[in-house]
Amino acid sequence: MFCGEPEKSRNHLLFACPYTYGLWLQIIGSLLRPTPSPDWAEILARIFHSAHDRLASIFLRLALQVTVYYIWRECNERRHTQRSRPAHRLAKVIEKTIKQRIMFTRYYEKRGLMEVMKRWFVAHMGFYALSSNGVLSSTPL
Ligand SMILES: [Zn+2]
Repeated sequence: MFCGEPEKSRNHLLFACPYTYGLWLQIIGSLLRPTPSPDWAEILARIFHSAHDRLASIFLRLALQVTVYYIWRECNERRHTQRSRPAHRLAKVIEKTIKQRIMFTRYYEKRGLMEVMKRWFVAHMGFYALSSNGVLSSTPL
């Protein structure tokens, strides 16, 4: 599907496939250290049962949910339209969706989560600033 490998099992897509694994690593950035293996069970265990801080885990759950959704969508699009997006382009869409979800759900009102997001945005998209009304905007350096 993504890498030329005929296997379409869940374990291949999440995240043994080099395309989806690369995508996932790009999405989580430095939030999961040491870098997780492509093993689905390990990733779930790390996100849901590890003792990293609670806010990072809220963020990682959201990231996982959005990433899995977009991988599924990309599969369908490739099947039906023969169009395909490189991983870095899909990553941009996923990052934008995560950011919007956090803004819509007013997660940003939890101070700690804002810190996690800032860490994430700084690593991904350069410098971001939070205005007094809670709007996160990018500021060119
Ligand atoms: Zn693959």
